[in-house]
Amino acid sequence: MVMEGKKGVVLGIANKKSIAYGIAKACKKQGAQIAIAYINDRFAQKLAPIADDLECKDRFYPCDVSKPEEIVALRELLKKDFGEIDFIVHSIAFAPKEGLAGRFMDITKEAFDIAMDISVYSLIELARELKPILSKNASVLTLSYYGGVKYIPNYNLMGVAKAALEMTTKYLAEDLGVDGIRVNAISAGPIKTLAATGIDDFSFVLKWNAAHAPLKQNVTIEQVGNSGMYLLSDLSSGVTGEIHYVDGGYNIMGMPATIEDENGRSKLAWNGES
Ligand code: NAP
Repeated sequence: MVMEGKKGVVLGIANKKSIAYGIAKACKKQGAQIAIAYINDRFAQKLAPIADDLECKDRFYPCDVSKPEEIVALRELLKKDFGEIDFIVHSIAFAPKEGLAGRFMDITKEAFDIAMDISVYSLIELARELKPILSKNASVLTLSYYGGVKYIPNYNLMGVAKAALEMTTKYLAEDLGVDGIRVNAISAGPIKTLAATGIDDFSFVLKWNAAHAPLKQNVTIEQVGNSGMYLLSDLSSGVTGEIHYVDGGYNIMGMPATIEDENGRSKLAWNGES
């Protein structure tokens, strides 16, 4: 199995719909041993069945990434239970509601700082603080979205955070490459998760993507999970600093056609008039 002998920590499982859960499942299926981190005690009980499912009841730790001391405590717990680890999954983002609707220029500094702290800086801090326990050839993975590259309605503040996260991935990849440690991101297509429901009109984004992506459907957490597992495994040993799209091909479309012809092929919604 591809992940046999690998040990890693997954941050960002809120429930069984979370992208992080898809990645953890795929890694476990390929033989990895998993530890999971949850934000606070309120979630400990809710996540217990998931910890059971991933066979990590004994490696189930609290870590709110906005609290530096909890990241240090996470490292010590991982060191105690695992010694070294081979991978980190950072599948975490947060922006106050006011940053995910309305006029972008009205975002407050407070909302901006919170979103950047939790969604971006946490990756830097995790990489730095967990580095002492990362094995040679370890792999770090984070999650991005196309709204960090191009305008997406209502994604607003999170779009700016994802742009920063993608560059953070590249700068960390350069920093850590000398130690054989890789850092990559998956830019996932839209998926109905808890975090996504915070974005206004998200169901329209889902419909739009499914209609205009070359594969004509939205991606699943299983698909993102398998691609994530590949990036965490030695199969991708030559890949670092990469933003890997798992979006049904949506990002390649410069001019989405909006209707299908009688054979189900994309056709311009244009009646031929000039
Ligand atoms: P999700 O299930 O809601 O996961 C987001 C996770 O972030 C939750 O587990 C949340 O914990 C955690 N989190 C927030 N603040 C935290 C903090 N201070 N400390 C620790 N954990 C914290 O949603 P998801 O869609 O799977 O999101 C995972 C990642 O994928 C995010 O980076 C998201 O931007 C990215 N992504 C999502 C989509 C999509 O369409 N769903 C597409 C592309 C990329 P609580 O829920 O317990 O607060």
